Amino acid sequence: MRAVARVNLDAISSNIRVLRARVDVPLMAVVKADAYGHGLVPVARAAINGGAQWIGTALLAEGLELRRQGVTKPHVISWLTPPGDDFAAAIAENVDLSASSIELLEEINATASLLGKRARVHLEVDTGMTRAGALGQWDQLVQRGAELMKNGNIEVVGVWSHFARADEPGHPANAAQKNSFDHALEVVSAAGVEPQVRHLANSAATLMDPSSHYDLVRTGIVMYGLSPDVTTLGSATKYDLTPAMTLVASLMLVKEVPSGVAVSYGGTAITKHATKVGVVPMGYADGVPRHGSNALKVNVGDYEAPVLGRICMDQFVIDLGPDSTAKAGDEVVLFGEGGPTVDAWASASGTVNYEIVTRLGPRVAREYFGVGA
Ligand SMILES: *Cc1c(COP(=O)(O)O)cnc(C)c1O
Repeated sequence: MRAVARVNLDAISSNIRVLRARVDVPLMAVVKADAYGHGLVPVARAAINGGAQWIGTALLAEGLELRRQGVTKPHVISWLTPPGDDFAAAIAENVDLSASSIELLEEINATASLLGKRARVHLEVDTGMTRAGALGQWDQLVQRGAELMKNGNIEVVGVWSHFARADEPGHPANAAQKNSFDHALEVVSAAGVEPQVRHLANSAATLMDPSSHYDLVRTGIVMYGLSPDVTTLGSATKYDLTPAMTLVASLMLVKEVPSGVAVSYGGTAITKHATKVGVVPMGYADGVPRHGSNALKVNVGDYEAPVLGRICMDQFVIDLGPDSTAKAGDEVVLFGEGGPTVDAWASASGTVNYEIVTRLGPRVAREYFGVGA
């Protein structure tokens, strides 16, 4: 074993159960980007096990992969589809789509008409995130959606939007977005459209703001047992959530080095005394952030070993201390159970916990345990 991410599927199911107990509406498990690096299909199954009624992905390829792997039961939505995407497959496989523009809605309708099957579409409105979602075109988009429900092959099943600052509870931008969403919904009612689900809340809003839940909440980071933002919301354990991933590697080499030697590319670390160093066979190609050079810590048993020097593509060096009894082949816990938290890694490398788990590369094997593994 060189490097493996151990994924606890019981933690995923349990986190979903904890979240479901907190909210009065159905829950969408967000499994985009290979389930935030945890593994698309096993995580989706564990989430369904825990009671998730919806599955959300960004890419259509992810939604279709779930259908191909036999995840047929709950609703699946894929919301990031450029023109020319495989809408025929989406419609055939019952994957819900999102439309932020009339142009995309027309394209989906044309494909649905060719197939002779209605497409399930969620209209997305921009309420202040200024990313996807219709802005000035909203009223016309809703109008066209209403027409295509009558004379076309579109079923408007959802209306939705996304928060920009839900991890700053109490920030006026959140109230403004809810307001804007309510106005967008009035336009929808006025057009005679009654969507099955109106959805706005991400993880942070799910935890902090019941008034944002509407008919469905879309939870990503929290279902992996991580906090949307430890500084503003506190750690995930505060909400009875359990981190699902532990990243481990085998020490490749242990050796004694004298005082005063330069370590790794650029010699950015110099040993202050004679010590033992360990070489960990993982690097930025695997998703270990290079910005964590000289900053990250890992665990070898109980010992917290700091990273010495730059993180390389495939390996990095740690200071085991002069009295270490560690040897090649010993397990190193990079983060997770028995090691630092993902949040410690994120803060040491100037990023967010989302990026730490999501960027784990394909060279890192995923091992599953718990029910469904
Ligand atoms: C990623 C994403 C989510 C989930 O966000 P979390 O902060 O991880 O809960 C919800 N909705 C949309 C549109 C997203 O892109």
